[in-house]
Amino acid sequence: MKLNIKDTFNSELPADPILENARRQVEDACYSFVTPKKTKKPEMLHIAPDMLSAIGLSKEEAASKDFLNVFTGNAVLPNTNPYAMCYGGHQFGNWAGQLGDGRAINLAEVVHHDKRWALQLKGAGETPYSRTADGLAVLRSSIREYLCSEAMHYLGVPTTRALSLALTGDQVLRDVLYDGHPAYEKGAVVCRVAPTFIRFGSFEILASRGDKETLEILVNYTLKHFYSHLGAPSKKTYLQFFKEVVARSMEMVVHWQRVGFVHGVMNTDNMSILGLTIDYGPYGWLEGYDHGWTPNTTDRQHKRYRFGQQSDIVLWNLYQLANVMYFLIDESAGLEAILEQYKGDYEQAYLRMMRSKIGMYTAGKNDALLIKDLEALLQLTETDMTLFFRNLSAFDESQPSKGLEVIKDAFYDSSALTTEISKRWDQWFLGYASRLKDETLPKVARVKEMNAVNPKYVLRNYMAQLAIDAADKGDNSLLDELFNLLKKPYDEQPKNNKWFAKRPEWARNKVGCSMLSCSS
Ligand code: AMP
Ligand code: MG
Repeated sequence: MKLNIKDTFNSELPADPILENARRQVEDACYSFVTPKKTKKPEMLHIAPDMLSAIGLSKEEAASKDFLNVFTGNAVLPNTNPYAMCYGGHQFGNWAGQLGDGRAINLAEVVHHDKRWALQLKGAGETPYSRTADGLAVLRSSIREYLCSEAMHYLGVPTTRALSLALTGDQVLRDVLYDGHPAYEKGAVVCRVAPTFIRFGSFEILASRGDKETLEILVNYTLKHFYSHLGAPSKKTYLQFFKEVVARSMEMVVHWQRVGFVHGVMNTDNMSILGLTIDYGPYGWLEGYDHGWTPNTTDRQHKRYRFGQQSDIVLWNLYQLANVMYFLIDESAGLEAILEQYKGDYEQAYLRMMRSKIGMYTAGKNDALLIKDLEALLQLTETDMTLFFRNLSAFDESQPSKGLEVIKDAFYDSSALTTEISKRWDQWFLGYASRLKDETLPKVARVKEMNAVNPKYVLRNYMAQLAIDAADKGDNSLLDELFNLLKKPYDEQPKNNKWFAKRPEWARNKVGCSMLSCSS
């Protein structure tokens, strides 16, 4: 197996040369050397073909024993030094101190076609950052990360990617609901891929310790390799850097709102410095459109990370990063000015995105009220987000009274649609129809545009659970089916119409489908 390895991370950043897995505080360092744990009986379950070719490997190489061993942690690539990264983080609004890759191990960085990719195993054993946990991952959470990160990529959402999913052959003990009923589950390893896995928390930990020297090295490293267009390090460049991280993070969250993705654990250690969606834990997809929804049972009480609050949380997280930058540049005005722009910019970007979802492309129109009314209506009765927006493109503005008929499949309980609510919908469709008449884009083109922002297929929570249940019994066909389905989420796929449907009733309150904990 031939990979073009370039370990810039290893060679440029201060390392903690630990080789055994003692749990401890790691100071003056950005990472620690570790060796992945050997597993009992590794078995490859799935490989993402596009990611494979992106890193320069062939299908033949992927079928080799070498590939299996390297991507399950059973062999280390020649001339590489796997490492776990040190970071801290604010979790659920509080500073949590040092965290770090507790169960992620970076294997190496490869360069192919001028693109750099860091390869990282998730679930390959303990690291100095594992604290009291085991550094392992189970099949259920690994399938969820593997399928969802690739699905997000094909939806056009900035995200970390996945290369492979394998069983380790070991059993892992987990208490899924944290209710004192631990059980053994199949251990698994995902190889994740991204230009870098550096997080907000990677910088926060250094600032929290007053370690300006290492912080500057890490910021300069990040600039050099991922923001090189901003130029040589200086106060001005640091501000530009922060500004771009703000812009990228905002773009990411606008995409989440567009497709109905709820991250579930937006702690600052789960915020990529590249504005990528990272750390797929108890995430979920909106079924009924609901700003108050969160899939994360750990967050059930306060719902900090609910759908409607994701952009505010991104801003909150950016404030934490701004504090780090302040420590570095010792000036607050520039940082504050950037942060103050966030709300207004987000509102604009959100409005633009929502306008595109309902087919409004003519410049200079203000559709804020129409959209606000729609969002209120969608939440009056349980209305499936994906079905609603996808079907909306079939609305005919010359027949506004048929509006409800066009989108009726999206209602979970049509009996909840009282005369009064129906009337409100009819009114909305009247306003929508009259507004559409001002649109200059021909109808065919409008439908095409709408279908390019409103996915037909998303990884509904129950779909992932079905793939998990089958794979747990040794049947990987559904995993493969969903993987392929979600590669073309905007296409009509008549053969796959069964996945363009509301969540079945059995999945409403099922663990794994609507309720997820951080246990993984
Ligand atoms: P998360 O909430 O998944 O982002 O994880 C928060 C912290 O806990 C990170 O430092 C993880 O590396 C660590 N962590 C989560 N699960 C495990 C595990 N099974 N073993 C070791 N560390 C873990
Ligand atoms: Mg995390």
